Amino acid sequence: MAERISGHTELIGLIATPIRHSLSPIMHNEAFAKLGLDYVYLAFEVNNQELPDVVKGFRALKLRGWNVSMPNKRLIGKYLDQLTPAAQLVGAVNTVVNDNGVLTGDITDGTGYMRNLKENGVDIIGKKITIAGGGGAATAICVQAALDGVKEISIFNRKDEFYENAQNTVEKINTKTSCHAQLFDLADQDRLRAEIAGSVLFGNATGVGMKPLEGQSVITDLSMLRSNLIVTDVVYSPRQSKLLHIAEAQGCRFFNGLGMMLWQGARAFEIWTGKQMPVDYIRSLPFLAGDDSKQSASTAK
Ligand code: NAD
Repeated sequence: MAERISGHTELIGLIATPIRHSLSPIMHNEAFAKLGLDYVYLAFEVNNQELPDVVKGFRALKLRGWNVSMPNKRLIGKYLDQLTPAAQLVGAVNTVVNDNGVLTGDITDGTGYMRNLKENGVDIIGKKITIAGGGGAATAICVQAALDGVKEISIFNRKDEFYENAQNTVEKINTKTSCHAQLFDLADQDRLRAEIAGSVLFGNATGVGMKPLEGQSVITDLSMLRSNLIVTDVVYSPRQSKLLHIAEAQGCRFFNGLGMMLWQGARAFEIWTGKQMPVDYIRSLPFLAGDDSKQSASTAK
């Protein structure tokens, strides 16, 4: 690393709290090193009170860009100069780029999800999908799927504080895109069964399946998953969530959240550097390979 950093090296940031567990610094720094790009990527723990000062400081230091995660994602938009259409629709930003002093906020989580499906030969354009979740990840996925041309999305969320957000997402999709979205209560299992039966894909975009909800699944009745259904999970720790174990048992093709994470990073990398992230190389590194063997076997390109 010492050989890599000079007076010319540019900083790319990541802000959120907590943030020390993030895989993004390893992913981006490995990619910069592999391509010989003179950037370094560092994580900063930032809360929402500190956010305006941090944006001001990053702007003054002329950082090329930075990633944004919770809890800063929904708030940062108002400190930037402009937002992409996707960031406006989602109401959140995960990538900022500084073009000659103009700060633009984008959201690449949804494009990451869609790109991962495409890279694995899964085509959901013009078709119907069912997604569980009404928070940040679900909103990004549903909005991008709608923008990309998915025909119908049935969204399920439990009646908690995210239900209203899911309702807003449905309204935005129905008024701003040609996709038809509907919202249902996750407790309505008969409806969930019916909507999955008419869908080509079921995706979990809630935190169910990872700590502190590890070992739990939004689907408990195996018979809801048929073998030609694609099943996705935003969760990647553990690599194979309870939902994905059920999907495997039912013979479904399944994807964990690593691909989405990788491709949202790849899109941000491209926005900052104008270069393609060496995705195959990054995927081969131990920090991503982990215990992903089952996922790889089932989703190999
Ligand atoms: P969020 O806090 O915005 O939303 C949480 C969602 O989980 C809501 O829909 C909520 O209703 C639901 N939920 C919480 N507890 C539940 C329960 N017991 N039963 C049913 N539903 C429940 O969170 P988020 O930012 O949307 O993140 C959700 C998950 O997605 C997290 O596990 C996060 O790590 C993951 N994520 C993955 C990626 C990726 O690239 N793979 C990107 C973003 C988020």
